[in-house]
Amino acid sequence: MRVAVIGAGYVGVVTAAGFAEFGNEVVCVDKIPEKVEMLRKGEIPFYEPGLQELVGKNLKEGRLVFTTDSPQAIRDSLVIFIAVGTPPRGDGSADLSYVEEVAREIAANLNEYKVVVTKSTVPVGTSLRIKEIINTHKNNNTGFDVASNPEFLREGSAVYDFMHPDRVVIGTDSDAAKAILRDLYRPLYLRETPFVFTDPKTSELIKYASNSFLAMKISFINEIANLCDALGADVHVVAKGMGLDGRIGPKFLHPGPGYGGSCFPKDTMALLRMAQEAGYHFHLVDSTVQVNQKQQEKAVEKVRQAVDGDLKGVVIGFLGLSFKPNTDDIRESPALYVARRLMEEGASLRVFDPAAMKNASQVLGDGCVYCKDSYHAAKGAKALVVATEWNQFRNLDLAKVKEVMNGKVIVDLRNVYEPEKAKSLGFRYVGMGRR
Ligand code: NAD
Repeated sequence: MRVAVIGAGYVGVVTAAGFAEFGNEVVCVDKIPEKVEMLRKGEIPFYEPGLQELVGKNLKEGRLVFTTDSPQAIRDSLVIFIAVGTPPRGDGSADLSYVEEVAREIAANLNEYKVVVTKSTVPVGTSLRIKEIINTHKNNNTGFDVASNPEFLREGSAVYDFMHPDRVVIGTDSDAAKAILRDLYRPLYLRETPFVFTDPKTSELIKYASNSFLAMKISFINEIANLCDALGADVHVVAKGMGLDGRIGPKFLHPGPGYGGSCFPKDTMALLRMAQEAGYHFHLVDSTVQVNQKQQEKAVEKVRQAVDGDLKGVVIGFLGLSFKPNTDDIRESPALYVARRLMEEGASLRVFDPAAMKNASQVLGDGCVYCKDSYHAAKGAKALVVATEWNQFRNLDLAKVKEVMNGKVIVDLRNVYEPEKAKSLGFRYVGMGRR
């Protein structure tokens, strides 16, 4: 099948390479020429484990091409996936200008029947809006169908998630589109991946409901952690005891400095906005967002307290800047938020992240020291803050860390260390809800 994927970001490149791996002829389009140039050479413009190998293999085998020529890509393809960004507007609603721009391009190049599929996360009603735009702008009688096919992959394990999704959701009112998409996803169908076929609006809402629910779970355990701090209980054991209940499940019960990334913050805000426009106040998601904002500030407060209330001039080793491990994505990163706030209060930061240094330096500027590894970051520091739970931070030689530090405080915002072990090495350990 000939497939076009418009937008070569985290979702677009993974989707394009994934469908090429399934044996389809895929053209992936981006409007940024430098990005396309890199991808043509098999270089990935962002950090995503396993993606370079998958792209390289499919480029070599001739099933995957990258281009800036969207008209040609659209004309040549039966299925067109829209995978462009839907960033938040000032009022929290999703900015659909990129999606709408692609819809107009599709209309202008509609030479034969096509299925137009939205992979971007878009508000309820967008598929129908896309249909309207194409109908308004097309200049012939060629038929087309629209479908919603939200993406659930996680950055950091995006390739695995594309190949092994928990489910594939397809929302369309067209039998033809349904049959074509089922065919496209056949390799997953054969693997007995659950498929949910529904109408476009329901499909679009499934994505927002899923992300908002996960965000809510994180805010919930963060509040439990705060309560543990106040009551002297251990959130790890609470989370374990809760998670063993099959109705609750163990995932997304890890406390920290709040959720971040390119999805949860914007999708919760967009759901709130959507609900508001529909005349409904979504109390739970509203609280989820508020708790998250407070949690980031709580993390700053933890560090402030750990250095006896005054951050001015205090040297802090700061580990982790990406919003989660295994990615260089710093969008809405709570780690970056905490780093910035500490700098604002006069702390002198020595930062290290295994992948996100370049991206973070564009935000943090030259007001901090960029270090070559964790031990370099800890050098001369009064306190060491762990803000993102990269595996390499879990396995630090804490005795060596203590040797190079000037103080003995660890503020473990991700609870990666055992408090007892840290204490036995002479550290003052501050975790999240860990007695
Ligand atoms: P991204 O910002 O990494 O990439 C979007 C790309 O689209 C950019 O490279 C941009 O240049 C390109 N683009 C914009 N307009 C274009 C046009 N008219 N023609 C060609 N290219 C164009 O975004 P992303 O993180 O891949 O997210 C894309 C969508 O998928 C968003 O709606 C997001 O919410 C959703 N999503 C993201 C993730 C994730 O983990 N990143 C997961 C699930 C869903």
